[in-house]
Amino acid sequence: MCGIFGYIGHQQALPILVEGLRRLEYRGYDSTGVAVDDGQSIQTHKTVGKVADLKAILPPSVQGTLGIAHTRWATHGGVTQVNTHPHASEAGTVHLVHNGIIENYQQLRKGLLKRGIECVSETDSEVLAHMIALEIESGSTPLESVQKTLRRLRGTWGLCILFKEHDLLVCARNGSPLIIGQGEGETFVSSDPHPLTTHTQRVVYLEDGDVALIKRDSFSITSIRGHAVEPSITVLEEAWGEAELGDAPHYMYKEIYEQPDALRQCIAGRVDREMGTGRLGGMGLDHATLVQAPHVRLLGCGTAAYAAEIGQTLIERMGRIPAVAHISSEFRNNDTVINPKAIYLAVSQSGETADTISAIKEIQLKGGQVFGVVNVVGSTIARLCGQGVYIHSGPEQSVASTKAFTNMVAALTIFATQLGRTRHLSKDDGRELIHHLQQAPHLMETYFEDTGPIGEAVDLLCDAQSVLFLGRGLSATVAKEGALKLMELAYIPCLAYPAGEMKHGPIALLEEGSPVVVVAPNDHLKEKTMSALHEVKARGAKVILIHEKGDSIAAEGDVSIAVPSIHPWLTPLLTVLPLQLMAYETALRLGRDVDRPRNLAKSVTVE
Ligand code: GLU
Repeated sequence: MCGIFGYIGHQQALPILVEGLRRLEYRGYDSTGVAVDDGQSIQTHKTVGKVADLKAILPPSVQGTLGIAHTRWATHGGVTQVNTHPHASEAGTVHLVHNGIIENYQQLRKGLLKRGIECVSETDSEVLAHMIALEIESGSTPLESVQKTLRRLRGTWGLCILFKEHDLLVCARNGSPLIIGQGEGETFVSSDPHPLTTHTQRVVYLEDGDVALIKRDSFSITSIRGHAVEPSITVLEEAWGEAELGDAPHYMYKEIYEQPDALRQCIAGRVDREMGTGRLGGMGLDHATLVQAPHVRLLGCGTAAYAAEIGQTLIERMGRIPAVAHISSEFRNNDTVINPKAIYLAVSQSGETADTISAIKEIQLKGGQVFGVVNVVGSTIARLCGQGVYIHSGPEQSVASTKAFTNMVAALTIFATQLGRTRHLSKDDGRELIHHLQQAPHLMETYFEDTGPIGEAVDLLCDAQSVLFLGRGLSATVAKEGALKLMELAYIPCLAYPAGEMKHGPIALLEEGSPVVVVAPNDHLKEKTMSALHEVKARGAKVILIHEKGDSIAAEGDVSIAVPSIHPWLTPLLTVLPLQLMAYETALRLGRDVDRPRNLAKSVTVE
């Protein structure tokens, strides 16, 4: 969540910091601030609101080639000016920005009070500035003072720290991502690779427990205990630098329509049409593991959890072994039994989802092997797992996930096919599936040529008190993803239910005119889904029906939206598209901030 950007170099720092913040905006935040060192003093500017609001209050020129900047997503203390980062020590010796949560901050705060130091903000972060300053006053170097302070903390941190009268930055990571970018005579720090790509491709991802001392043309890394750490340089993928909006009205719009190309990227080189199977090289799974695995568990949060749920269904169907999708935050707390022979898949767009990271660590501790299904190359989950599959969506900047969802589904479909072919899936069935998967990008394009009466659906949705989404089998999960999208973007309460379960509860909500979205592709469950459709219509509900083109059920919807026909196991790749567009268009109609919906963050790096 939130973001950090830091700079030390030969250029004026302020414009670089503000641009860095702008490129971090997609992660979601509520307030923002910057501190620049001009060699004599450190000037701080902060505000509640957007980076544009910060720009508006900045003086015309702020000199200085060293500075730190932050977008805050409040965890401790309200969204106020005084809680906004950077935070400073009493005498202004130390200024810092922090991502994460300091769990023992109250105890540390009491310790400071005893020494006569009172925090001015309500945040957990501010204690760190005072503690580090106390270490400086007692003669420690900046690096030592940070190391000593960190040894007393419990919690998570991404930290970037400025010291008055010291021409350097100190950074540290524990549980919140931080990346150092090395340019020519300048060094950058960012919580996200995306803003670095315009400056340099050469980066180092800090690991948990790392502390970095950063100068203009060099940096060194140590552990919290002061032991030297050898940095490992990564070269960033160029595509991450090209994620500009272009002519598109919003990132979400751009990303919805990028799905055919993104899907091609995901599939390319990973399927064997002749053998009717998948080839996920990065998984490094040998035949024996695939054949002997007793079950598969999948982990994810939000949209990734729904992709995992679709993966679960496909793995069971093709692999004929039990598969279960878990919400990461629940999984890690429930002391789930870990069988080291099982296959564990961790699904995350950002690769930084804190709950999923904790779940992975728990599985690894108990001897389980976890494979990442991740978009961001080099992200924490990718590195923690060391094996897995990159979904290759390219940068996804809208908070609401679209192209990452379809690519997660595609990657899991390829995995299920590979698993299935080592077991019970016949060559012919595998071939047919792979053939359809390869057609899917083109079928997405066909749908985008005529998206159907989305506007009419929006007419029904935009005044609704609540919306019910229904489907069966794979489409029950698509219904959940559609409900999540509409709720996130339009702030309308949405409920998704397997269609068969509707009569056991949610039917009570229906009254004359209630909108109900029914996802009913032409699979073996369609007839049963249609029974639920008739039950809701009998109560006066208005049905928005997602169906396959040419299907006579089109006549049953009050608004009917057709998607091209595809293999019944691949329908989520197409039926989700109108749901994404409906959420996008409804949010626009209601005047919502489509790319940065309130209270949400793109990569959820706190538990
Ligand atoms: N816990 C800190 C605060 O509430 C940092 C939150 C963040 O990661 O932005 O200020």
